[in-house]
Amino acid sequence: MKRTGRVLVCTVTLVMIWLSIGIAAVEEHHNDVVVVGTGVSGLAAIWELARSNIDVAVIEMSSHYGGTALMSEGRICIIGTPEQAHAGMPDSPQIAFEDFTAFGRDERGSGPHAEWVHYYVTESRREIYDWLTGLGVRFEKDVGLMPGNRVPRWHQVIGKGRGLIEPIYRECAHTGNVTFFWSTRAVSLLRDGDRIRGVRAERLGDHAKIDYLAPVVILATGGFQSNMDMVRENWPTDLPFPDRLLIGAGLNAVGSGHEMAQAAGAQLKNMSNQWNYATGLPDPLNPAGQRGLNTFSPQSIWVNKAGRRFVSESQDTKTTFPAVLRQPGSTYWAVFDSAARGTFFVSGWDRQTIESTIFDNPAMTLFVKSAPTVRELAEAAGLPPDAIENTVRRWNEMVTAGRDDDFGRIGSGQSSWSHPSRIERPPFYAVQFFPLTRKSMGGVAIDMSCRVTDSSGRPIPGLYAVGELTGLAGINGKASLEGTFLGPSIVTGRVAGRAVAAELTARKKN
Ligand SMILES: Cc1cc2nc3c(=O)[nH]c(=O)nc-3n(C[C@H](O)[C@H](O)[C@H](O)COP(=O)(O)OP(=O)(O)OC[C@H]3O[C@@H](n4cnc5c(N)ncnc54)[C@H](O)[C@@H]3O)c2cc1C
Repeated sequence: MKRTGRVLVCTVTLVMIWLSIGIAAVEEHHNDVVVVGTGVSGLAAIWELARSNIDVAVIEMSSHYGGTALMSEGRICIIGTPEQAHAGMPDSPQIAFEDFTAFGRDERGSGPHAEWVHYYVTESRREIYDWLTGLGVRFEKDVGLMPGNRVPRWHQVIGKGRGLIEPIYRECAHTGNVTFFWSTRAVSLLRDGDRIRGVRAERLGDHAKIDYLAPVVILATGGFQSNMDMVRENWPTDLPFPDRLLIGAGLNAVGSGHEMAQAAGAQLKNMSNQWNYATGLPDPLNPAGQRGLNTFSPQSIWVNKAGRRFVSESQDTKTTFPAVLRQPGSTYWAVFDSAARGTFFVSGWDRQTIESTIFDNPAMTLFVKSAPTVRELAEAAGLPPDAIENTVRRWNEMVTAGRDDDFGRIGSGQSSWSHPSRIERPPFYAVQFFPLTRKSMGGVAIDMSCRVTDSSGRPIPGLYAVGELTGLAGINGKASLEGTFLGPSIVTGRVAGRAVAAELTARKKN
């Protein structure tokens, strides 16, 4: 990519304003575009702008790039890849379109944004796979099959989130057209009549107020699932709110972009479409006890306070999440044996970290119990011992018989999460789980160019939004096929970057 010296053209003006309380410095930066956020959606937009020789100021409240993608598994839903073909599992936009719309629809017929789904299933190969591999990103050969997909399309980036982000950031940083302002938080949008003309921000180190002025702003601030007030306000009306809900989304996914865009007249759409998980464990690294880890034990059975199973444990989130919310205290215990301990999974963690931080950590004894017998395990967890013994005995009989008469978990057609095995080898384990927030599937309304729209559907001049802030443009509807957050973040980012480049070129000509 061409290196230019345009960053030097960026003017930095220090205007000293005398206030009655003392001297406050208002710093101004003038650029062609301001991008707020360096998650994968922001970086995808920045990459498009930088290669069009556009002078970009990037504001990031964190001291590091990458956002939520850095803690992600790096799994991406892509259609029509060489890996799929190699495995003899040919996919097509038509099959994928049907899967997206069938899985994301609710019983009232409300579902994904058809036009965006169509764009995604048709263009994911070019916009995501070809682009990423061209930048040096590599994928594992095996492609996973997730619930709701008739074809495996869950592609694993080698190196997970970091393996995805590093090559994109490297390219953006090397163009010379982009200036990054780290540890700087966007506070509000600046307006000139109807038009957005920049962003007011605060430098977190010294609390200085800075104005980043540009004819176009792209908001890429992520979702709102780490803002408990917003999660509660927008909770789906058909689901009870849990007694304890852990936060499991990106650290800065607190809805600040939603707030700024709404104050500028943007419409917020489908905010109750939230993709939250049933598999949250309090995070031992968060002493306040608010944050949780997405953990899973594929060989376990789940029992409620009465010691009974209540759902097929390997079902999709669409089924397990409401089932957990309906249990007393909206909690359950996953019961498994020593043979299954090695398959206990924590999103983003390696085996050694799981062992030392979960199983061998005295701070986790409230939620992680072990005992030499099933009866003693039940007593340690405060569960009814007779009921637990009966439930484990029945489960073992059903595994041996090869049929789950209660919830249909055993047999053909199961997802890759289902590993039914007998629970028989001591010591036995019980781990307590709670619901966990994760990903926003609703957000700031955008059109097909990622221009932010108001309640009448009219674009707000100078304002674009991308990524999870937009609820991934409504691609998932009510439920996600998985891997459908990183992919649409990239696609909306690239679409916005190109649209802004075209808008700026047109403005210069006029
Ligand atoms: C643990 C975990 C695992 C996941 N794994 C997967 C997966 O395997 N596959 C998948 O498809 N999805 C996955 N996801 C979801 C996916 O990672 C996110 O949806 C996606 O990364 C969102 O990207 P984004 O750019 O829209 O937002 P973010 O990555 O959240 O980036 C937003 C950026 O904006 C910054 N910011 C926010 N507010 C401001 C402000 N006011 N001023 C300045 N900067 C601000 C933030 O610091 C951040 O850097 C996972 C999510 C989590 C939490």
